Amino acid sequence: MNWNTILIRYGEMSLKGKNKSKFVRKLKENIKAALQELAGITMRAERDRMFLYSDHPEELERAIEILPSVFGIQSFSPIAICEPTLEAIKSTSLEVLSKTETAGKTFKVEVKRTDKRFPLVTGELQQELGGHVLRSFPELIVQMKKPEILLYVEIQKQGAYISSHIYKGAGGMPVGSNGHSLLLLSGGIDSPVAGYLMMKRGVSFDAIHFASPPFTSELAKQKVEDIIKQLSKFGATIRLHIIPFTELQQAIVKQVPSNLSMTTTRRMMMQIADRVREETNSLGLITGESLGQVASQTLDSLTAINEVTNTPILRPLIAMDKLEIIQIAEKIGTYSISIRPYEDCCTVFTPSSSKTKPQVEKVRYYESFQDFNEMIEDAVNGRVTVIPSKLTEEEFDDLL
Ligand code: ATP
Ligand code: MG
Repeated sequence: MNWNTILIRYGEMSLKGKNKSKFVRKLKENIKAALQELAGITMRAERDRMFLYSDHPEELERAIEILPSVFGIQSFSPIAICEPTLEAIKSTSLEVLSKTETAGKTFKVEVKRTDKRFPLVTGELQQELGGHVLRSFPELIVQMKKPEILLYVEIQKQGAYISSHIYKGAGGMPVGSNGHSLLLLSGGIDSPVAGYLMMKRGVSFDAIHFASPPFTSELAKQKVEDIIKQLSKFGATIRLHIIPFTELQQAIVKQVPSNLSMTTTRRMMMQIADRVREETNSLGLITGESLGQVASQTLDSLTAINEVTNTPILRPLIAMDKLEIIQIAEKIGTYSISIRPYEDCCTVFTPSSSKTKPQVEKVRYYESFQDFNEMIEDAVNGRVTVIPSKLTEEEFDDLL
């Protein structure tokens, strides 16, 4: 028996042709990057699944810890490979089960016979194998629906694959297989979740953050960098562009009545983001907006904001409740960073009340008294770009 392989199953089985090969190529690249620290691992990709090999069991164990955060994987299983003969399959099945907790567990055998020359048909082999296993593990309880242990046997010409455990993958599509965008990242709870969900759909991104020193502190910037480090764990290197936003915000406060200043602020952010998007070869803009959450996120407000660009604005949280968003933020480890109390630029300058139905003509009118284009240009050119590296586990624990 050779117990040195992990079999990886893909999601999105409906992908066809070139999309499929791009998916597989990208997934292989991303898994390789995620498992970078494991020098002994080799990989082989087929159209519908991938194999990881290593002769060091501790490397495979580490891979089992890392793989659940890689998008594009539906599920994976450590497998034992043996000769495709009844005798070898029987003895290997017992060996595989001997490494599993069997006491009081429900159980079923499932056989997939890809090599049709195998002397027993699927049903016969399932029965034969089930009986054999039960003689050695009489404590197992046979159960056809949702058994706790599924002994899965796949018979190929070159060998039989045997596994007793299926680990759930992250699903989605490999990061980078669906284009590159720019995430507007505030440091609040929502925008990191928006970024995560787009990564899940295969989008990689740069991030842009608007900072208004001295009203926003160095610590607020640190918070955004930490969020990026945490998001990087899901399979992408993320560049962060920090935009000096103070002058623009002060000009907005001066020119635009307070109940419309939030709309103008968002419009300015969008225009700056759109310029940076172009310069970073990104396709869309991603925000953490959720319909009706605050005045600037009503349909009227979103329409007024959208007016400044034709670029697709991706708003993956648009239909989600705050509680659902928080649940995801907790799951992906950004929540504890987001709730650190440092002010972001909008909270500092937020007026006490904003219009939920801003009239675009009025907004345009007030904006016309100032040459905002030049200020936008300055903000774009004044950006500072950093690439926060991934957090180690220890660094992350220290943050909490
Ligand atoms: P978040 O939790 O993401 O801050 P929010 O519910 O607080 O969202 P707003 O503050 O209205 O909502 O911001 C809406 C969206 O605008 C954010 O999700 C984010 O994409 C973008 N945004 C807001 N402030 C900033 C900022 N300082 N830098 C970059 N993007 C920002
Ligand atoms: Mg916010």
